[in-house]
Order: sequence, then structure tokens, then C-alpha cells
Amino acid sequence: MVINNCLIIIVSSPSGVGKTTITNKLLKKIKKSYLSVSCTTRNPRKNERHKVDYFFISKEKFFQFKKQKKFLETAKVHNNYYGTLKTELKKNSKHSKVVLLDIDWQGARSIKKKIKNNCYSFFLLPPSIAILKRRLLRRHHDNKKLALSRLSSARKDLRFWEEYDYVYVNDKLIKCVNEIYKKISQLLIEKNQRSY
Ligand code: 5GP
Repeated sequence: MVINNCLIIIVSSPSGVGKTTITNKLLKKIKKSYLSVSCTTRNPRKNERHKVDYFFISKEKFFQFKKQKKFLETAKVHNNYYGTLKTELKKNSKHSKVVLLDIDWQGARSIKKKIKNNCYSFFLLPPSIAILKRRLLRRHHDNKKLALSRLSSARKDLRFWEEYDYVYVNDKLIKCVNEIYKKISQLLIEKNQRSY
């Protein structure tokens, strides 16, 4: 797949690092930026909306879409299926400057193979494992088992940071957002200079 008129920015991190907050702040800061809405077979959480946060679909529909080759990539994460729709990327890349993809390392790996130009991957790290553990225990305060299982998945996910183009530590939220924003702005300038 060739992307000419915009940047594809992949953002990955283990759960609990603050990726959703960071992506939302970036979407507000970057003019003409859009989030690619993925399909998932997991149930919506409180405050999540169909077609806004995800396309919440059944497993049957997911595998039907997969068979019909509607996905650019798919992955199984925490026992649920996720996939990036080709139409979602095509539609968004037409009228935006930046399309953000909030996907895991498996998705990042396949998209980087499929989109060679104007596609950059960012990985977010926690300041330390101890801080990540504290954040996960706070997030899942009513379910310690779930928090510890997320921590164990996070340890596995952390092994893939080296595959990414850029790596940032989310120590201070605003500082981290500003640093990523600066990098994306620089990538946009470089892209525009290339197209002259
Ligand atoms: P959550 O269920 O917490 O929203 O997301 C779980 C993980 O799945 C996160 O790491 C998120 O980035 C990842 N994810 C969300 N959508 C996709 C997708 O379309 N493809 C892949 N590979 N991962 C995704």
C-alpha cells in the first residue's frame, strides 16, 4: 500500500502506560489528524462508543471480514481479536495530514511491512516496571488478578520496543505529548520537503 498525502503514525505501548490519553491529546494538537478506528470482538467498556472508539463486532463478523480480506492486519490481544480495516485507512488518509493508529506490536510489525513510505512507529515506555505495576493495580483496583495478568503481558510487550522508529518514556504526561508532537511536526515538514 502506498500512502502519499499523509503520515501514518503508529502508537504502541503495553497497557497502563497512558497511550489512550497521549493519543487523544495528540489528536487535539495536530490539525487534520484522525484516529483509525479498529474492529474488535471485545465488549465495549463504560464510556466507549461504537464507531468512535472501536467498531464492536462479533467473532463471526470478524472472521467474515478477515475472509473477505477487509483487514490490513489483525491480532489477538488479551484473548480478543483486533483488526485495522483497509477502508478506514484509505478513507482517512485522503483528507488528513496525520492518521494515528493505536495498535499493538503485532499490528505495528505487519503495517510497517505493508506501508513502506510515510509510516512511522512510536513506542511508549513506562518510567519503570514498579510504576507500571502501581498504575495497573490502581486501574484494576477491584481485580488484582487482572492487574497482574496485564503486568505480565506488559513485560512481554516491552520486549518489542527495539522494532520501533521512535521510543518515548511517559514520565511526565505533557512533556511526553510535546516531545512526540514535535517529532511528528518535524516528520511532516520533511515529508512536505520531499514532495517538492
Ligand atoms: P484495548 O482493548 O485495551 O482497547 O486494546 C488492547 C490492545 O489492542 C492495545 O494495545 C491496542 O493498541 C491494541 N489494538 C487496538 N486496535 C488494534 C488493531 O486494530 N490491531 C492491533 N494489532 N492491535 C490493536
